[in-house]
Amino acid sequence: MDQNIRLGKIDGVPIGMNWSILVIFCLICWELADLVLPGYHPNDSTSVYWVVGVVASVLFFASLLAHEVSHAVIAKRNGIGVRRITFWLFGGVSELESEALTPGADFRVAVVGPATSLVLAGLFGALASLFNHGGGGTQAVIVSALGWLAWMNVLLGVFNILPAAPLDGGRVLRAYLWQRRGDRVSAATTAARAGQAFGYLLVVLGVLEFLAVGIFGLWFVFLGWFLLMAAQAEESQVAMRNSLANVHVRDVMTPDPTTFDSQTTVADLVDNQLHRYRFSSYPLVGPDGRLEGLTTMGRVRHVPASQRQGTRLKDIACPVSELPVGRPGEPIPDLLQRMQASPDGRAFVLDENDRLVGIVSPSDIARYVQLCMLQSQGRTARRR
Ligand SMILES: [Zn+2]
Repeated sequence: MDQNIRLGKIDGVPIGMNWSILVIFCLICWELADLVLPGYHPNDSTSVYWVVGVVASVLFFASLLAHEVSHAVIAKRNGIGVRRITFWLFGGVSELESEALTPGADFRVAVVGPATSLVLAGLFGALASLFNHGGGGTQAVIVSALGWLAWMNVLLGVFNILPAAPLDGGRVLRAYLWQRRGDRVSAATTAARAGQAFGYLLVVLGVLEFLAVGIFGLWFVFLGWFLLMAAQAEESQVAMRNSLANVHVRDVMTPDPTTFDSQTTVADLVDNQLHRYRFSSYPLVGPDGRLEGLTTMGRVRHVPASQRQGTRLKDIACPVSELPVGRPGEPIPDLLQRMQASPDGRAFVLDENDRLVGIVSPSDIARYVQLCMLQSQGRTARRR
């Protein structure tokens, strides 16, 4: 289910890597060792190209990591939790648990990433000129690799600062417009639309390059398409957040959910209990009455029939530590943001004594949105 490999933690933030990045890593190693370095220094040995190429590729990924970690560190300093950092086909993503409370914080979290990349570019450039004595041999290959790293970081910094959400520059644009207009929603909508325009532009340029130059243009088409989709999703998310701004968790949640004993076996649940209920997720309580996690029909389905007898619900549950917790009086958009990062897309609702009073699932939200639409249709019809 989870396609990510866990790499460890930095400053308490888990770092993960999607399998797709391995392909990119191999491509970059190959490009450096087989094309770029031999192109500059045709007389060195293949082993030198490959050792320098692989080390430079690792340093390139370390640069990507530094970019994302800088976002995470500044987000945390501004009171924004960071769920995790994941690397995939198009670089890194820092998943934030909430949104910045002020335009200033929004700006700082966004701008630090490209700034870090540009500082790294300067560092690699300085190292390249330090080692460059005009001679040949292995040292010259290393200097070229350092120069390549400097350029890659320049590209990374410049591309990310383009004013098109979801790129960092789009966030900077959002912060700027938010400060000027005093309205976060309209600022975020403009930034997302700029992202869509930029996505279309990349697709068109990519097609032209594909026709004029060759296969490399397809990369821009993919990148543009991805940006377009992400920017469209962002715009509709902004609209949904806005329409739900005055809705509270208690309005949407399923109150007093049915709970199960965490020691119950999957066999017992399936054969004797489930036919009485109609929900898709169930909180689990331990012998002492404490919450121990949440199990879903999806998780139950993954247990093979032969293992149901020996598997307790606790064994397949999502642990409490990974589930977002909402409060009944909290605005629902804030909880929605945290739910996106949770493994099952669900949240517990606890009262001020930390007693379970409800759960929120994606279907609760869909039901609520549907109800709002029906009610507004009713109002429009009566007005006519
Ligand atoms: Zn960034």
